[in-house]
Amino acid sequence: MPNINRRQLGLSAGALAVAAFSPARFSIAQGASSVVVIGGGAAGATVAGQIKLAMPAATVTLIEPLTLYTSCFYSNYYIGGQRTIQSLTHTYEGLKALGINVIHEFAASIDTAKRSVKLSSGKDLSYDRLAVAPGIDFKFNTIEGYSRELAEKSVPHAWRGRDQSKLLHNQLQSMPDGGVVVIAPPKPPYRCPPGPYERACFIANLLKVSRPRSKLIILDPKMTYSKQPVFEEAFSTLYKGIVEVHLTNDIDDQAIAKYDAKAGEITTKAGFKVIAAVANIIPDQKAGSIAIDAGLADGDWCPVRPENFTSTKADNVYVLGDSAISNEMPKSAYAASSQARVVAAHIVEDLSGKPHSPGLYRNTCWSFIAPGNSAKIGADYAPGVQAGKPALIPANSFVSKPGESAAVRQEGFDESAAWYDTLTNDMFQKPLVR
Ligand code: FAD
Repeated sequence: MPNINRRQLGLSAGALAVAAFSPARFSIAQGASSVVVIGGGAAGATVAGQIKLAMPAATVTLIEPLTLYTSCFYSNYYIGGQRTIQSLTHTYEGLKALGINVIHEFAASIDTAKRSVKLSSGKDLSYDRLAVAPGIDFKFNTIEGYSRELAEKSVPHAWRGRDQSKLLHNQLQSMPDGGVVVIAPPKPPYRCPPGPYERACFIANLLKVSRPRSKLIILDPKMTYSKQPVFEEAFSTLYKGIVEVHLTNDIDDQAIAKYDAKAGEITTKAGFKVIAAVANIIPDQKAGSIAIDAGLADGDWCPVRPENFTSTKADNVYVLGDSAISNEMPKSAYAASSQARVVAAHIVEDLSGKPHSPGLYRNTCWSFIAPGNSAKIGADYAPGVQAGKPALIPANSFVSKPGESAAVRQEGFDESAAWYDTLTNDMFQKPLVR
């Protein structure tokens, strides 16, 4: 493992919260407290594991339909041909071995008044505390000619789920030289703000090596984007002549207006048209539908108290990970894991009758620029007040700059790989093997 400091090491996800939360301190018999977690992703798997470690006597139930979790984070490595899908796939065996009751079903509905969750099989589960972490859902109805069915069949967003990543990966592998790849990022807020531009680097790297006559066009509904100077440097040097970026400006809106599936033609609101050999349209997003259906959302996302991610809509309920409104804290696996530690500490303190420690959070997002070259952005976050409202306030923020040395970027690349292993090990309670 490379020599990386605490800020850089993925293990420090939520380290500030961990400092105040020692599992050993709370490893006391807790009677029959029942905690139910919906969603076994970066947020849900972590919160379930941390609670069970801290309160072995509690009944912790994790509801997750999939028996294998294929991470979205790092899926660009697979899509870009730099990793296998197996290396992104994890089982729930470690969590089961810890004594967590993992139920592979959908949570169909939540009754917050009765404190119970209905499973897709019809069974009801009651809870003392409920953590809701279903990730994201998509708004498929904003583009003429585009639909959920089309996304599943032939126009992958590859922004959630194993099958979607495989579809995009396979389309890129079989694309003819000379074809155009289009990436259409969503409007914010969305999962992984630098993700579309990292994906552009992976695909450009692939085209450069194996499809030299091909091009990649980004059609963006935004005027600016995450880590922009670093990505712009890569697009104008490493991927010169391959990547073309169409940002929205005061006159032209480059959001996709129409997709003609027969011709493969994309038209933006500004009237720009292109025939895509591979169309990667990433739709606008919202909280996982179970959270919205349960009345935990204001509009598309779920409001929470910044100090502990308790829902402002229902008692004894927490919403965490991508579904929650966490202000400036981005929707990332690092952030979800950090939030999970704060939520676990709060639930354990609550059920143990202990005083609460303040929730402090951290995020770092690394992005692949080229093999052995990754850039990063991050910050710490603490509860505070912004424009008269409770908010998470960033501090100690940092971001990579253009012109950094190869050694600095290599360090970022190595940190990122170490972070992936550490985070997934922590999520699924498995030994770290490197
Ligand atoms: P998820 O991890 O998606 O987990 C949600 C789980 O809930 C799923 O397993 C789902 O099956 C389950 N679920 C949904 N509905 C129900 C229901 N009704 N009942 C039961 N279960 C349900 N983040 C980073 O930190 N670093 C990165 O480098 C990074 N790269 C990314 C690259 C790409 C291309 C993408 C798309 C994302 C990337 N991310 C990255 C973001 C990261 O994947 C997400 O932010 C993170 O997975 C959010 O965690 P979550 O637990 O909220 O959601």
